[in-house]
Amino acid sequence: MGRVFVAGSINMDVVATADRHPRVGETVAGKQVLYFPGGKGANQAVAASRLGARTTLIGRLGKDSFGTELKAFLEGQGIDLGYIKETAEAHTGTAIITVAEADNTIVVIPGSNGLVSAEDVGIVPLVKGDVAVSQFEIPLATIAAFFRRARAAQARTLLNPAPAQKFGRDLLELVDILVLNETELGLLAGTELSDGDEVTRIIDVARRLQASPDQTICVTLGKRGVVALAGREEIVVPGRVVKAVDTTGAGDCFVGALAAQLADSAALREALDFANAAASISVQRMGAGPSMPTAEEVSAVLN
Ligand code: ATP
Repeated sequence: MGRVFVAGSINMDVVATADRHPRVGETVAGKQVLYFPGGKGANQAVAASRLGARTTLIGRLGKDSFGTELKAFLEGQGIDLGYIKETAEAHTGTAIITVAEADNTIVVIPGSNGLVSAEDVGIVPLVKGDVAVSQFEIPLATIAAFFRRARAAQARTLLNPAPAQKFGRDLLELVDILVLNETELGLLAGTELSDGDEVTRIIDVARRLQASPDQTICVTLGKRGVVALAGREEIVVPGRVVKAVDTTGAGDCFVGALAAQLADSAALREALDFANAAASISVQRMGAGPSMPTAEEVSAVLN
Protein backbone atom coordinates (compact mmCIF):
# COMPACT_ATOMS: atom_id res chain seq x y z
CA MET A 1 0.00 0.00 0.00
CA GLY A 2 1.36 3.45 -0.96
CA ARG A 3 1.41 6.44 1.31
CA VAL A 4 -0.35 9.77 1.06
CA PHE A 5 1.88 12.85 1.36
CA VAL A 6 0.01 16.12 1.75
CA ALA A 7 1.96 19.39 1.39
CA GLY A 8 -0.41 22.08 2.58
CA SER A 9 -1.85 24.54 5.02
CA ILE A 10 -2.55 24.12 8.72
CA ASN A 11 -4.80 26.74 10.31
CA MET A 12 -6.58 27.44 13.53
CA ASP A 13 -10.13 28.53 12.69
CA VAL A 14 -11.35 30.96 15.33
CA VAL A 15 -15.12 31.25 15.08
CA ALA A 16 -17.07 34.02 16.80
CA THR A 17 -20.84 33.74 16.85
CA ALA A 18 -23.12 36.74 17.32
CA ASP A 19 -26.73 37.76 16.71
CA ARG A 20 -25.64 40.11 13.95
CA HIS A 21 -22.49 41.23 12.14
CA PRO A 22 -20.89 44.49 13.31
CA ARG A 23 -20.95 47.38 10.85
CA VAL A 24 -17.60 48.96 9.95
CA GLY A 25 -16.29 50.71 13.07
CA GLU A 26 -18.89 49.08 15.33
CA THR A 27 -18.46 46.60 18.20
CA VAL A 28 -21.14 44.02 18.97
CA ALA A 29 -21.29 41.53 21.82
CA GLY A 30 -20.68 37.97 20.64
CA LYS A 31 -22.22 34.78 22.02
CA GLN A 32 -19.45 32.17 21.72
CA VAL A 33 -15.88 31.69 20.55
CA LEU A 34 -14.93 28.29 19.12
CA TYR A 35 -11.55 26.94 17.98
CA PHE A 36 -11.40 24.38 15.15
CA PRO A 37 -8.30 22.83 13.56
CA GLY A 38 -8.48 23.65 9.84
CA GLY A 39 -6.59 24.51 6.69
CA LYS A 40 -7.11 22.51 3.53
CA GLY A 41 -3.84 20.60 3.89
CA ALA A 42 -4.59 19.51 7.44
CA ASN A 43 -8.24 18.66 6.64
CA GLN A 44 -7.27 16.49 3.67
CA ALA A 45 -4.56 14.73 5.70
CA VAL A 46 -7.06 14.04 8.50
CA ALA A 47 -9.51 12.56 5.98
CA ALA A 48 -6.87 10.29 4.40
CA SER A 49 -5.54 9.14 7.78
CA ARG A 50 -8.99 8.41 9.26
CA LEU A 51 -9.72 6.35 6.17
CA GLY A 52 -6.70 4.14 6.90
CA ALA A 53 -3.98 5.60 4.65
CA ARG A 54 -0.47 6.03 6.02
CA THR A 55 -0.40 9.82 5.83
CA THR A 56 2.37 12.39 6.13
CA LEU A 57 1.64 16.12 6.35
CA ILE A 58 4.31 18.58 5.22
CA GLY A 59 3.84 22.15 6.39
CA ARG A 60 4.80 24.84 8.86
CA LEU A 61 3.50 25.96 12.22
CA GLY A 62 4.44 29.05 14.22
CA LYS A 63 6.09 28.81 17.61
CA ASP A 64 2.91 29.80 19.42
CA SER A 65 0.01 28.26 21.33
CA PHE A 66 -2.07 27.58 18.18
CA GLY A 67 0.93 25.70 16.74
CA THR A 68 1.20 23.56 19.88
CA GLU A 69 -2.54 22.80 19.89
CA LEU A 70 -2.66 21.94 16.20
CA LYS A 71 0.33 19.63 16.50
CA ALA A 72 -1.34 17.75 19.36
CA PHE A 73 -4.57 17.46 17.37
CA LEU A 74 -2.82 16.14 14.24
CA GLU A 75 -0.76 13.66 16.26
CA GLY A 76 -4.00 12.35 17.70
CA GLN A 77 -5.21 11.68 14.15
CA GLY A 78 -2.30 9.28 13.49
CA ILE A 79 -0.65 11.60 10.95
CA ASP A 80 3.15 11.51 10.52
CA LEU A 81 4.36 15.02 11.43
CA GLY A 82 8.07 14.38 10.82
CA TYR A 83 8.12 16.98 8.02
CA ILE A 84 6.35 19.78 9.88
CA LYS A 85 8.70 22.65 10.67
CA GLU A 86 8.17 25.14 13.44
CA THR A 87 9.14 28.66 12.50
CA ALA A 88 9.74 31.76 14.61
CA GLU A 89 9.35 33.97 11.54
CA ALA A 90 5.53 33.91 11.42
CA HIS A 91 2.49 33.02 13.48
CA THR A 92 0.53 29.85 12.84
CA GLY A 93 -2.00 30.24 10.00
CA THR A 94 -5.26 31.58 11.39
CA ALA A 95 -8.76 32.11 10.03
CA ILE A 96 -10.98 34.60 11.86
CA ILE A 97 -14.58 33.67 11.14
CA THR A 98 -17.68 35.56 12.24
CA VAL A 99 -20.96 33.70 12.07
CA ALA A 100 -24.20 35.67 12.42
CA GLU A 101 -27.59 35.78 10.72
CA ALA A 102 -26.85 32.39 9.05
CA ASP A 103 -23.96 33.98 7.14
CA ASN A 104 -20.26 34.28 7.71
CA THR A 105 -17.32 36.56 7.07
CA ILE A 106 -13.79 35.15 6.97
CA VAL A 107 -10.34 36.73 7.18
CA VAL A 108 -7.50 34.23 6.62
CA ILE A 109 -3.95 35.08 7.63
CA PRO A 110 -1.64 32.52 5.95
CA GLY A 111 1.20 33.18 8.46
CA SER A 112 3.54 30.17 8.60
CA ASN A 113 1.76 28.48 5.63
CA GLY A 114 3.24 31.15 3.38
CA LEU A 115 6.73 30.00 4.37
CA VAL A 116 6.42 26.34 3.29
CA SER A 117 9.35 26.14 0.89
CA ALA A 118 10.75 24.05 -1.93
CA GLU A 119 13.38 22.91 0.56
CA ASP A 120 10.69 21.66 2.96
CA VAL A 121 9.22 19.39 0.28
CA GLY A 122 12.60 18.47 -1.24
CA ILE A 123 13.43 15.93 1.45
CA VAL A 124 10.16 13.98 1.44
CA PRO A 125 10.73 10.23 0.84
CA LEU A 126 8.19 9.69 -1.96
CA VAL A 127 8.31 6.36 -3.82
CA LYS A 128 6.36 4.68 -6.62
CA GLY A 129 2.77 4.00 -5.55
CA ASP A 130 2.57 7.05 -3.27
CA VAL A 131 0.20 9.94 -3.87
CA ALA A 132 1.44 13.54 -3.48
CA VAL A 133 -1.42 15.95 -2.67
CA SER A 134 -1.50 19.74 -2.52
CA GLN A 135 -3.81 22.79 -2.62
CA PHE A 136 -3.44 26.54 -3.08
CA GLU A 137 -2.86 27.64 0.52
CA ILE A 138 0.94 27.31 0.26
CA PRO A 139 3.22 28.98 -2.34
CA LEU A 140 2.73 27.71 -5.90
CA ALA A 141 6.49 27.37 -6.44
CA THR A 142 6.58 24.96 -3.49
CA ILE A 143 3.78 22.86 -5.00
CA ALA A 144 5.66 22.69 -8.31
CA ALA A 145 8.84 21.54 -6.54
CA PHE A 146 6.84 18.92 -4.60
CA PHE A 147 5.20 17.56 -7.76
CA ARG A 148 8.50 17.48 -9.68
CA ARG A 149 9.95 15.40 -6.88
CA ALA A 150 6.89 13.12 -6.93
CA ARG A 151 7.15 12.66 -10.69
CA ALA A 152 10.86 11.79 -10.38
CA ALA A 153 9.91 9.11 -7.82
CA GLN A 154 7.04 7.82 -10.04
CA ALA A 155 4.49 8.82 -7.40
CA ARG A 156 1.17 10.27 -8.57
CA THR A 157 0.34 13.95 -8.13
CA LEU A 158 -3.10 15.23 -7.08
CA LEU A 159 -3.86 18.96 -7.09
CA ASN A 160 -6.91 20.61 -5.55
CA PRO A 161 -6.60 24.18 -6.93
CA ALA A 162 -8.52 25.83 -4.08
CA PRO A 163 -9.03 28.59 -3.11
CA ALA A 164 -9.40 29.25 -6.83
CA GLN A 165 -6.68 31.23 -8.55
CA LYS A 166 -5.31 31.18 -12.06
CA PHE A 167 -2.04 29.30 -12.44
CA GLY A 168 0.44 28.50 -15.18
CA ARG A 169 0.47 25.60 -17.56
CA ASP A 170 3.89 24.55 -16.22
CA LEU A 171 2.23 23.56 -12.92
CA LEU A 172 -0.83 22.03 -14.61
CA GLU A 173 1.45 19.77 -16.63
CA LEU A 174 2.86 18.34 -13.39
CA VAL A 175 -0.60 17.21 -12.27
CA ASP A 176 -1.86 13.63 -12.77
CA ILE A 177 -5.23 14.15 -11.08
CA LEU A 178 -6.91 17.54 -10.78
CA VAL A 179 -9.83 17.73 -8.33
CA LEU A 180 -11.88 20.91 -8.37
CA ASN A 181 -15.43 22.17 -8.03
CA GLU A 182 -17.52 23.81 -10.76
CA THR A 183 -16.60 27.37 -9.76
CA GLU A 184 -12.90 26.57 -9.84
CA LEU A 185 -13.23 24.80 -13.19
CA GLY A 186 -15.08 27.82 -14.61
CA LEU A 187 -12.39 30.23 -13.42
CA LEU A 188 -9.50 28.14 -14.77
CA ALA A 189 -11.20 27.47 -18.10
CA GLY A 190 -12.28 31.11 -18.43
CA THR A 191 -16.02 30.38 -18.62
CA GLU A 192 -19.03 30.77 -16.32
CA LEU A 193 -20.33 27.51 -14.84
CA SER A 194 -23.28 27.32 -12.52
CA ASP A 195 -25.00 24.77 -10.31
CA GLY A 196 -27.47 23.58 -12.88
CA ASP A 197 -25.07 23.02 -15.79
CA GLU A 198 -25.47 19.77 -17.74
CA VAL A 199 -22.83 17.12 -17.10
CA THR A 200 -21.97 17.08 -20.82
CA ARG A 201 -21.11 20.79 -20.69
CA ILE A 202 -18.97 20.31 -17.57
CA ILE A 203 -17.09 17.46 -19.27
CA ASP A 204 -16.56 19.63 -22.35
CA VAL A 205 -15.09 22.43 -20.28
CA ALA A 206 -12.90 19.95 -18.36
CA ARG A 207 -11.66 18.56 -21.67
CA ARG A 208 -10.55 22.03 -22.73
CA LEU A 209 -8.48 22.30 -19.56
CA GLN A 210 -6.85 18.87 -19.83
CA ALA A 211 -3.09 19.44 -20.14
CA SER A 212 -2.32 15.99 -21.56
CA PRO A 213 -4.40 13.13 -22.96
CA ASP A 214 -3.83 10.99 -19.86
CA GLN A 215 -4.57 13.65 -17.24
CA THR A 216 -7.57 12.98 -14.98
CA ILE A 217 -9.91 15.84 -14.05
CA CYS A 218 -12.54 15.27 -11.35
CA VAL A 219 -15.21 17.92 -10.95
CA THR A 220 -17.15 17.79 -7.70
CA LEU A 221 -20.76 18.92 -8.01
CA GLY A 222 -21.93 19.16 -4.40
CA LYS A 223 -25.12 17.15 -3.87
CA ARG A 224 -25.04 16.14 -7.55
CA GLY A 225 -21.89 14.01 -6.92
CA VAL A 226 -18.86 14.06 -9.20
CA VAL A 227 -17.93 13.71 -12.86
CA ALA A 228 -14.48 12.73 -14.07
CA LEU A 229 -12.63 12.80 -17.32
CA ALA A 230 -9.91 10.16 -17.23
CA GLY A 231 -8.02 10.34 -20.48
CA ARG A 232 -10.92 9.87 -22.90
CA GLU A 233 -13.15 7.99 -20.44
CA GLU A 234 -16.02 9.83 -18.75
CA ILE A 235 -17.18 8.70 -15.32
CA VAL A 236 -20.32 10.00 -13.64
CA VAL A 237 -20.96 9.24 -9.97
CA PRO A 238 -24.34 10.57 -8.79
CA GLY A 239 -24.53 12.25 -5.40
CA ARG A 240 -25.89 10.27 -2.47
CA VAL A 241 -29.18 11.46 -1.11
CA VAL A 242 -28.52 12.52 2.48
CA LYS A 243 -29.65 15.22 4.89
CA ALA A 244 -26.77 17.71 4.79
CA VAL A 245 -26.28 19.81 7.92
CA ASP A 246 -22.87 21.39 7.23
CA THR A 247 -20.95 21.07 3.95
CA THR A 248 -17.78 22.73 5.32
CA GLY A 249 -14.85 20.51 4.39
CA ALA A 250 -16.83 18.30 1.99
CA GLY A 251 -14.33 19.02 -0.77
CA ASP A 252 -11.41 18.31 1.57
CA CYS A 253 -12.99 15.02 2.66
CA PHE A 254 -13.45 14.06 -0.99
CA VAL A 255 -9.79 14.83 -1.86
CA GLY A 256 -8.38 13.00 1.19
CA ALA A 257 -10.57 9.97 0.52
CA LEU A 258 -9.66 9.86 -3.16
CA ALA A 259 -5.94 10.06 -2.36
CA ALA A 260 -6.27 7.30 0.27
CA GLN A 261 -7.99 5.02 -2.23
CA LEU A 262 -5.49 5.68 -5.02
CA ALA A 263 -2.58 5.01 -2.64
CA ASP A 264 -4.32 1.70 -1.88
CA SER A 265 -4.28 0.85 -5.63
CA ALA A 266 -8.03 1.26 -6.17
CA ALA A 267 -9.21 1.82 -9.74
CA LEU A 268 -10.41 5.37 -10.41
CA ARG A 269 -14.13 4.50 -10.61
CA GLU A 270 -14.04 2.66 -7.27
CA ALA A 271 -11.99 5.45 -5.70
CA LEU A 272 -14.53 8.06 -6.87
CA ASP A 273 -17.45 6.01 -5.51
CA PHE A 274 -15.67 5.71 -2.18
CA ALA A 275 -14.76 9.42 -2.00
CA ASN A 276 -18.32 10.41 -2.94
CA ALA A 277 -19.69 8.21 -0.14
CA ALA A 278 -17.11 9.51 2.36
CA ALA A 279 -17.94 13.15 1.55
CA SER A 280 -21.68 12.44 1.79
CA ILE A 281 -21.10 11.24 5.37
CA SER A 282 -19.05 14.35 6.23
CA VAL A 283 -21.86 16.72 5.20
CA GLN A 284 -24.18 15.08 7.73
CA ARG A 285 -21.93 16.29 10.58
CA MET A 286 -20.76 19.69 11.84
CA GLY A 287 -17.26 21.06 11.23
CA ALA A 288 -14.47 20.04 8.87
CA GLY A 289 -11.83 17.88 10.66
CA PRO A 290 -14.25 16.31 13.16
CA SER A 291 -16.72 15.39 10.36
CA MET A 292 -14.31 13.10 8.45
CA PRO A 293 -15.54 9.46 8.46
CA THR A 294 -13.63 6.22 9.06
CA ALA A 295 -13.19 3.46 6.44
CA GLU A 296 -15.72 1.29 8.32
CA GLU A 297 -18.35 4.02 8.13
CA VAL A 298 -17.81 4.42 4.38
CA SER A 299 -17.91 0.65 3.76
CA ALA A 300 -21.19 0.44 5.69
CA VAL A 301 -22.71 3.02 3.32
CA LEU A 302 -21.35 1.36 0.17
CA ASN A 303 -22.53 -2.16 1.01
P1 ATP B 1 -16.50 22.85 0.27
O1 ATP B 1 -15.79 24.07 -0.28
O2 ATP B 1 -17.82 23.15 0.93
O3 ATP B 1 -15.65 21.95 1.09
P2 ATP B 1 -16.47 21.99 -2.50
O4 ATP B 1 -17.19 23.08 -3.25
O5 ATP B 1 -15.00 21.91 -2.61
O6 ATP B 1 -16.94 21.98 -0.98
P3 ATP B 1 -18.51 20.11 -3.28
O7 ATP B 1 -18.58 19.84 -4.72
O8 ATP B 1 -19.54 21.02 -2.67
O9 ATP B 1 -17.03 20.58 -2.94
O10 ATP B 1 -18.58 18.73 -2.47
C1 ATP B 1 -17.59 17.73 -2.59
C2 ATP B 1 -18.25 16.38 -2.58
O11 ATP B 1 -18.98 16.23 -1.34
C3 ATP B 1 -19.28 16.17 -3.66
O12 ATP B 1 -18.68 15.74 -4.87
C4 ATP B 1 -20.14 15.07 -3.03
O13 ATP B 1 -19.49 13.81 -3.15
C5 ATP B 1 -20.15 15.47 -1.56
N1 ATP B 1 -21.30 16.35 -1.21
C6 ATP B 1 -21.29 17.68 -1.07
N2 ATP B 1 -22.51 18.16 -0.73
C7 ATP B 1 -23.32 17.08 -0.66
C8 ATP B 1 -24.72 16.89 -0.35
N3 ATP B 1 -25.52 17.92 -0.04
N4 ATP B 1 -25.19 15.63 -0.38
C9 ATP B 1 -24.41 14.57 -0.68
N5 ATP B 1 -23.08 14.68 -0.98
C10 ATP B 1 -22.55 15.91 -0.96
